[in-house]
Amino acid sequence: MKNKLKNIVIALILIFIIVILSIIYTNNNSTNSEIDYKYTNINIDSNQLNIFYFNVGQADCTLITINNKNMLIDAGQESDGEYIVEFLEEKNIKKLDYFIITHGDIDHSGGAKDIINSINIENMFMPQGIIESEEEYQEIKELAEKQEIQMPKVEVDQEFALDVASFEVISVKNNIDCEPNDSSIVIRLNYLNTNYLFMGDATTDIEDEIECATVDVLKVGHHGSGSSTSTEFLEKVQPKYAIISAGNHKGYNHPSEEVLERLRNFGIRDENIYITKNQGTI
Ligand SMILES: [Zn+2]
Repeated sequence: MKNKLKNIVIALILIFIIVILSIIYTNNNSTNSEIDYKYTNINIDSNQLNIFYFNVGQADCTLITINNKNMLIDAGQESDGEYIVEFLEEKNIKKLDYFIITHGDIDHSGGAKDIINSINIENMFMPQGIIESEEEYQEIKELAEKQEIQMPKVEVDQEFALDVASFEVISVKNNIDCEPNDSSIVIRLNYLNTNYLFMGDATTDIEDEIECATVDVLKVGHHGSGSSTSTEFLEKVQPKYAIISAGNHKGYNHPSEEVLERLRNFGIRDENIYITKNQGTI
């Protein structure tokens, strides 16, 4: 009888511990998945190049700013638009010299309308074929036309200046029948002796095809999905740091363990691999 009572007490204690642990786990998970829209402790030093890889969950948005010249690559999901605008206004960024929508997927173009409606934009780049193919992108295009934003067709090898920094178009597909991810505008940014590569959602097909000099920082393609970032590509561009924009989306599970392994095997140490869902805005 005594033993039975002892067993019941032990079982109750175990159940209690399991309940407490699962509450702690759920709480941790929910705070992780909440996006840090406030970007609180971020300061801009206008005398040098600043790059913010925003934590926009399972989406993409990067701000590059130097000496009041500003470039935004992608616009997150539709729900991110107003927060990106809020950030730009808070940091007194009144104009985007370049607004690049790498391709039309909603996790890259979703916030575009809010941004076009709120911020002066000088040049907007999108892969042309994609614009023609979907109603959503037509709306973005019409809105941009209304605001008299220039939307030149971008081609591989074109170069643009951003104050003393410069960037070059490494890949873009302007044909209408291109796989949307592979239409991505891929950008290589140079500042002093440092080079940055922004892959959009381009897959290994594009990685195989592009000609690109080595870089220091790689914004990993397609949120760290296994269909991008091949070992051959890493050997080609030789990055020292890797940045991944990914959220806690259960269906995608980005970044893939496979890609993290490829980065590690190539020689990038864990502390040089940054992931927005873990580190927040980088
Ligand atoms: Zn994407």
